[in-house]
Amino acid sequence: MSTHDFPPNHDNDLFLAAQLAAVQARVAQAAARAGRDPAEITLVAVSKTKPFGMIAELAAAGQVDFGENRLEELWEKVDEAERTGLAGIRWHAIGTIQSRKSKQAVGPFALVHSVDTRKLAERLSRDAEAAGQRVAALLEVNVSGEESKHGFTPAGLLAELPDLLALPGLHIQGLMTMATLESEAEATRPTFQRLRLLLDEIRQRFPQGDWRHLSMGMTNDFEVAIEEGATIVRVGTAIFGKREMG
Ligand SMILES: *Cc1c(COP(=O)(O)O)cnc(C)c1O
Repeated sequence: MSTHDFPPNHDNDLFLAAQLAAVQARVAQAAARAGRDPAEITLVAVSKTKPFGMIAELAAAGQVDFGENRLEELWEKVDEAERTGLAGIRWHAIGTIQSRKSKQAVGPFALVHSVDTRKLAERLSRDAEAAGQRVAALLEVNVSGEESKHGFTPAGLLAELPDLLALPGLHIQGLMTMATLESEAEATRPTFQRLRLLLDEIRQRFPQGDWRHLSMGMTNDFEVAIEEGATIVRVGTAIFGKREMG
């Protein structure tokens, strides 16, 4: 089933459910190719810029995990879910968080994917403790080393990990990366492989940690990411259609 089988009309109830089913099928096929159980892969539907009604429709179709990259928009949607009585959604904060806004990342969220500096980690931990919480978080790694990308360098992360793991307000659960957008999904494979190898090394050196998650792969390359060990894929466009902006 391809996107071309459906008119790009987002008012059509069937459109979103069909797009979701198509992505779920592709997740399952990629898992099968890699000899993995699709049940160990979480599909996060990235709803940024999309109206709450689309989230409600997808939730009705069985989608549980939703991700937003801006904290303001994440909170708006969390509030709207509460107002409208839409329960059971697991919310993911996936975008860059300025450390001065760390307080906004403490909330009813399943996972914060994008802890990309020691400063943010420390502030988030402090704010979480003050709120009587422990924030479930992933450490974002800049695998490619591109200057424009956020995240710890692999060497920097290994050096900081003893301190990061000691932060009482954080429950670190793994690694996340944003791959460079490539025209060919295959070109992203080495990035995903490097993140996977880094996680393997971290598991050996820091066995006291909880290293269950690898959050990697988006619309363009989620199947390659699953073949390379992703436990979480973050997919927006393939489910919701194109975004107007950003
Ligand atoms: C927007 C976004 C995605 C999803 O991108 P698509 O290409 O639309 O699937 C995934 N992760 C992050 C951090 C994003 O900001």
